[in-house]
Amino acid sequence: MIELEKIELLESQSGKCPLIAGPCSAESEQQVLDCAHSLARLGVRIFRAGVWKPRTRPGTFEGAGNKALEWLTQVRKETGMAVITEVANARHVEAVLNAGIDMVWIGARTTTSPFAVQEIADALRGTRIPVLVKNPINAELELWIGAFERLSGAGITKLAAIHRGFSSYYERIYRYSPEWQIPIELRRRIPGLQVICDPSHMAGRSDLVPHLAQMALDMKANGLFIEVHPHPENALSDVAQQLTPSQFEQLTGNLIYHREPEKVDLDYLEPYRNRLEEIDMELVRNLAERFRITGSIGEYKNLKNLSILQPDRYKAVSDELVREGIKYGLDEKFIRLLFEAIHAESIRCQINKNKTI
Ligand code: PEP
Ligand code: MN
Repeated sequence: MIELEKIELLESQSGKCPLIAGPCSAESEQQVLDCAHSLARLGVRIFRAGVWKPRTRPGTFEGAGNKALEWLTQVRKETGMAVITEVANARHVEAVLNAGIDMVWIGARTTTSPFAVQEIADALRGTRIPVLVKNPINAELELWIGAFERLSGAGITKLAAIHRGFSSYYERIYRYSPEWQIPIELRRRIPGLQVICDPSHMAGRSDLVPHLAQMALDMKANGLFIEVHPHPENALSDVAQQLTPSQFEQLTGNLIYHREPEKVDLDYLEPYRNRLEEIDMELVRNLAERFRITGSIGEYKNLKNLSILQPDRYKAVSDELVREGIKYGLDEKFIRLLFEAIHAESIRCQINKNKTI
């Protein structure tokens, strides 16, 4: 049982969406303060900036370190916003607590490591600082829940989740796949947990951030965590996904926090829905027929000692499908993904078929 206390700053005030925003990395005092003043004017209540940056590859900017904590406390002094940064080990926790930072988040790479999360939980024991836990980089709900259990076990009650999407081997539309069902299941498993969304890391591209932000709110996210940089093109990390303050202003201006649906005329929708159901049924029947045929091909391949996977043919067929799809206005990545799934299932059917003969 995880005992929770609501984080006040993540509760909506006068119907507005709670916003955490700021640069990916604190790069200089000037950049941090510039950004903070623009955001404070736009109603942001919590300012984010990474001080120690977990970089996938070495040799890139790894954060300004301890001195940046002073820039953050200066932000609070000048703007009144609360400040939050990422911690990845006990040393970071100690520095953050000494500097009097208001909140911390645990990054996606750290959440994957039970040792690191336990070390952080132990270092936080006895404090009342709110802790926001990003989802682990891989789509494993139990790991995310495990992090909450470790923090709760150390007596931390002000806990919230940040949904930032999940990594996968294939190139997707988004940098990290949303897998909306996972935060939905998290809420079911930890009732009352505040879950906010980070559409910046999810999108990986600034132009996709607004629509993901709105989707997250439509899925009942409690708030948003967004990267904003005064000059994204010069950023030392996550160049492609940070918004300028004016893009952020536009995004927040267009957000609908609570959608109030107008009266829906179900009679109007019914014929469309019926037709969709027919199409879906047809799709399922066609798929079943397709897999029956691949099964027969599998038997023949087995008989002739031909390997199941024929990469050249796979590529030719998939390119052909993509061309056809584009002709009909379908999205290229979508067709590739769909065909990949169908192809993987065909291979599974062929393997199964050969096991039974
Ligand atoms: C960040 O918020 O800048 C960050 C490093 O995030 P994540 O852990 O989601 O990659
Ligand atoms: Mn970032």
